[in-house]
Amino acid sequence: IQIKVSMATCGITAGADSIYEYFKDEIDRINNNKIVLISTGCMGLCHSEPTIEVTLPGQKPEIYGNVDVKKAENIFKDILYKKVKESDIIISSKQKKIVLRNCGFMDPENIDDAISKDAYFALNKVLTNMSQEEVINEIKKSGLRGRGGGGFPTGLKWEFAYKNKANKKYVVCNADEGDPGAFMDRSVLEGDPHSVLEAMAICGYAIGSDEGIIYIRAEYPLAIERLKIAIKQAEDYGLLGENIFGTNFKFKITLKYGAGAFVCGEETALIHSMEGKRGEPTLKPPFPAEAGYWEKPTNVNNVETYANITAIINKGSDWFRSIGTEKSPGTKVFALAGKVKNVGLIEVPMGTTLRDVIFDIGGGIVGNKAFKAVQTGGPSGGCLTKNELDTPIDFDTLKEQGSMMGSGGMIVMDENDCMVAVAKFYLGFTVDESCGKCTPCRIGNKRLYEILEKITDGKGTLNDLDLLKDLSNTIKRASLCGLGKTAPNPVLSTLDKFYDEYEAHVKDKK
Ligand code: SF4
Repeated sequence: IQIKVSMATCGITAGADSIYEYFKDEIDRINNNKIVLISTGCMGLCHSEPTIEVTLPGQKPEIYGNVDVKKAENIFKDILYKKVKESDIIISSKQKKIVLRNCGFMDPENIDDAISKDAYFALNKVLTNMSQEEVINEIKKSGLRGRGGGGFPTGLKWEFAYKNKANKKYVVCNADEGDPGAFMDRSVLEGDPHSVLEAMAICGYAIGSDEGIIYIRAEYPLAIERLKIAIKQAEDYGLLGENIFGTNFKFKITLKYGAGAFVCGEETALIHSMEGKRGEPTLKPPFPAEAGYWEKPTNVNNVETYANITAIINKGSDWFRSIGTEKSPGTKVFALAGKVKNVGLIEVPMGTTLRDVIFDIGGGIVGNKAFKAVQTGGPSGGCLTKNELDTPIDFDTLKEQGSMMGSGGMIVMDENDCMVAVAKFYLGFTVDESCGKCTPCRIGNKRLYEILEKITDGKGTLNDLDLLKDLSNTIKRASLCGLGKTAPNPVLSTLDKFYDEYEAHVKDKK
């Protein structure tokens, strides 16, 4: 008999620790060693935390949500009678889990549990059976594209770093997740840290590096704690460190902490921050693969990108390509938030429609109100309207629709939301997060925000709407880095799709 309690940050915040303690005390009290209690990461069911999963011998797992101590008592009685009720949460069959395959289903603090789910099999395979070129070709053939926002082909990135013949190279994991409403990377690190450590070691082997660094925001204390435990356990098992799997390959991983600056998700700013400098971007080229951390070739991928690697190595690039779309193979994890019933973490094949995500997996709009729009790509993205609900989600289609994939934040708006206020919210975030290095972003976005404020205060004119557009396009063209270049996107996107709402503010003076 297994009882799994979802103990990621979301679960603990909702009280999962007291549920875990209840089961632990009861199991101790009846002294029954046939009941195994496991603390796991997040199952993605943030709308129903605390969640637990119960598996009786020979039966399918049942999942229960909104568990309080009273409900836990009833479930425990059912367990003792070996007859539990059916799940009260059904996970949509439209989901497909590659990145989140183990999150919520294993103990992230127990490497044996991870190994029982094939952790470090892929590392063994590449070290004992594959050349560096074969590993890179397999990743290239898979078509995996960077999940941090840009969608750059991962295999190509690895190849650039591999071809550089410097004597020292670095593998960096970008865990500086900072979009409002995004928590994909935190959940992977809290739920399955070994999948990222193993992938970084595979990357190290492929490009010829012996050192990996995870740049993680300090606001993720549980993810940091679980990473530290996972690194120590992997070192104790000889899966990180010297002579891994009896080969000459050595690889160590350390952590560096970010102080929560959104711009440090940009790879050049991230590298500067890692070096102890101000987290400011610089012009590319040179790219990090040529001159990155301490001017050495550096491969930077984000958490979700790495979390795909071991599955590709274990199951092959053809398998990976059979999921998703031709130009965006695989799956994408989204943090589904806002006015949707089933807020949480989901993973779907690329090409799944927004309608399926919001109305099937998400359960529709809270209070059965009308859907108005969904913002994808966080503050760098744009909104999609009800006419675009059948848009397949992939890197290129979202771009064609004036939005972007970004790292995977997805915020749903209902009929009562003001889209001008939404644009102002996102722009306010980027104004706060601008590093201030270049004028178009530092001053331009501030002026843009002031115009939006004037409009929402009922003091705007129709000329201001033209000015918003002109200034946005200038900022996009002239800013130095991605933060500034994309900051006006929510303004342009809402101007394009909800011009009537801007007009109403201006004409009705409210
Ligand atoms: Fe800094 Fe903004 Fe310029 Fe980027 S665009 S360098 S965040 S001021």
